[in-house]
Amino acid sequence: MSHSLQALDRAHHLHPFTDFKALGEEGSRIIERGEGVYIFDAEGNRILDGMAGLWCVNLGYGRDELVTAAAEQMRRLPYYNTFFKTTHPPAVKLAEKLCALAPAHLNHVFFTGSGSEANDTVLRMVRRYWALKGKPEKQWVIGRENGYHGSTVAGMSLGGMAPMHDQGGPCVPGITHVRQPYWFGEGRFGEGRDQDPEAFGHQCALAIEERILELGEDQVAAFIAEPVQGAGGAIMPPASYWPAVKEVLSRYDILLVVDEVICGFGRLGEWFGSVHYDLAPDLVPIAKGLSSGYLPIGGVLVGDRVADTLVEEGGEFFHGFTYSGHPVCAAVALKNLELMEAEGVVERVRDDLGPYLARRWATLSDHPLVGEARSLGLMGALELIDPASGERFDKALAAGNLCRDISFRRGLVMRSVGDTMIIAPPLVITREQIDELVTLAREALDETARCLAARVADEPPTEERSA
Ligand code: PMP
Repeated sequence: MSHSLQALDRAHHLHPFTDFKALGEEGSRIIERGEGVYIFDAEGNRILDGMAGLWCVNLGYGRDELVTAAAEQMRRLPYYNTFFKTTHPPAVKLAEKLCALAPAHLNHVFFTGSGSEANDTVLRMVRRYWALKGKPEKQWVIGRENGYHGSTVAGMSLGGMAPMHDQGGPCVPGITHVRQPYWFGEGRFGEGRDQDPEAFGHQCALAIEERILELGEDQVAAFIAEPVQGAGGAIMPPASYWPAVKEVLSRYDILLVVDEVICGFGRLGEWFGSVHYDLAPDLVPIAKGLSSGYLPIGGVLVGDRVADTLVEEGGEFFHGFTYSGHPVCAAVALKNLELMEAEGVVERVRDDLGPYLARRWATLSDHPLVGEARSLGLMGALELIDPASGERFDKALAAGNLCRDISFRRGLVMRSVGDTMIIAPPLVITREQIDELVTLAREALDETARCLAARVADEPPTEERSA
């Protein structure tokens, strides 16, 4: 059956973020079901989902409570819009719950269907805010190189991923990008080789100020970033970074947008990653873990400063999506947050699982292929290096992708971003399952090292799976 499904898939489906040609030649992996932290493919293999689907399935697979919440809401009211002053109980209750969980100044929500739509909304709100404040010249938004904020044209433009810009045609005007606080890649191995991480972090913050001065100090509307850059490579900034960024932004009266699509809802051991770094964002795009990925929903939390202006002075905001606050998605998101609260999921990540993962994950730093092992909460990264030279691998070897494919075959989902391996397992993972994850990661590294050494990157030795 899996073969016919694969053949059908090959014939019809253009997968996101996938080399279409390679997909046609190699076929896809068909995932059929999930249970807890495991997924099962069409051959019946059990795979530990080290990426929570794709940073989404925080409560794990097979949660009947979420299924029931969806079914009940679908029976009662499957859809109604939230336009023109109408709404419904799930949207109202979800908005109330989100504002109760968020830092005190975030008291409004604009719902969307996804994280990309949330960031489109952010761009429009930011520019509208400054227009209403009588400063329409404040138009520029500063993002970060290699940042990811979605795949719509606005999302792509706010993000700083060069391949997306190359393929996406012209970006939305008035958006520029500054360097990311990626010490391992740019501090240790890049231009500022062997720089002190804190000095490097500070320098990255000052790069924002330099850009502001280049653009004109009254021309910049907002700065957008994730607390920890997720898709860019699980990049935890040096401690010096965020305090210095906050200082720069307040000096020039620039709004702070903190994209919590990945970092929100417990990933870093707080309900919001900005709490971990003591940020007070004006706008907060959310999605993914909001519903544990069971149904698509996103939104923007809006701080009092912006909301007061939009509400008091704005009148109609000519913006919205058919599925803004979709009742079934909102009912599932609400139940997801209630379950997370009742089960103390976020506290467990902060006090127990995060520190435990940090200890266990750090043991991988003795592996010859690993230049750095870092983690925060339940997000971790390994930086692969060439053991022979101690330098980064030749890009043509695609060592990260090789390690990702080997890991998957051995029963662990890891993601590769270049030669950075990433994990972000469901937040309901146990200590024993963290041990299993670390063991599988080590085995994948061992096999990757053997493959690279034998220069048979295209045909890794086939070994028995260990899961
Ligand atoms: N922001 C961040 C930080 C993300 O990681 C993503 C998705 N990976 C998005 C926005 C876009 O979300 P979506 O795919 O739901 O549009």
